[in-house]
Amino acid sequence: MKFSAAWIFWGLFFSLAAVAVDESYDCPGHLTLKRRTLLANYSPLGQGGVPVAFIDVDKTLVVSTQGHSVPSEPGDITWLPGTVPVLSRLNEENIFLALVSNQKDTPVFPSWENTDAVLLRVVEHFQQMGVKIHWFDFAGGGEQNARDRKPNPGMGLRLERFLQITYARPLDRSRSFMVGDYADKDLDGSDSDLGFARAFGIGFRDPSAFFGWSAQGVRRFGKPFFR
Ligand SMILES: [Mg+2]
Repeated sequence: MKFSAAWIFWGLFFSLAAVAVDESYDCPGHLTLKRRTLLANYSPLGQGGVPVAFIDVDKTLVVSTQGHSVPSEPGDITWLPGTVPVLSRLNEENIFLALVSNQKDTPVFPSWENTDAVLLRVVEHFQQMGVKIHWFDFAGGGEQNARDRKPNPGMGLRLERFLQITYARPLDRSRSFMVGDYADKDLDGSDSDLGFARAFGIGFRDPSAFFGWSAQGVRRFGKPFFR
C-alpha cells in the first residue's frame, strides 16, 4: 500500500514538474499570463477522451483594425463574421475550445503582456456572446519557441498533457480538428494551420467553409501575405 501511494505521489510530482519545466523556457518568469490556464468550466462526458477544436485567431476570428499583421492591443480588434453560431454549436457538442496562435514577432510586437491581453479579450468577447472558450495558447518568436509554433505540434501536446493531468482523460484526436486560415502556401502565404493538423494527427477545417464565408463569395479576410 505504501509502495503504491509513493508511486502515485512521485508520478504526480513528476507530471506537474514536467509541465512547470515546460513553461519556463520562453517568456520572462515574472509575468503572469492567462494563456495555458483553464478559462471556462469543462466536464468531459462519458468515459472517452476529450474532443478539442483548435482554433487559429488572426484572420480566422479577428483582424487588426489598424491594419497590423496582428492586433496590437485589445482595442485594435475587428471581429470576423459567422463565428458565434458555429462556436456555440461546438459548445453544445461539449467540444473543448482552444485558441492556438502563432505570434512570431512577440515580444517585439506586441509585448508578451499585450499579446496575452488581446487573446484574453477574444475569449471575453465570445463569453459575452454566450460562447465558452476554455483555453488559449500562443507561441512567441525566437528559436526557443520554435517547437510551439505551428506547423509544429507543441501547443497541441501541451494541451494534451493538461487534459490528462486535469481530467485523467486523453485528448481524442479522432474527434479533434484545427480551424485556420493558413492552409495553402501559394494562396495564403503559409500552410502552418494545415501543417499543425497533420503533425498532430487531427482533422482540418477551412474557416471559409466552416464559418460560411465561402457562401458569401469570401475566401479570406485581411491582407493575404502578412505573416
Ligand atoms: Mg491566422
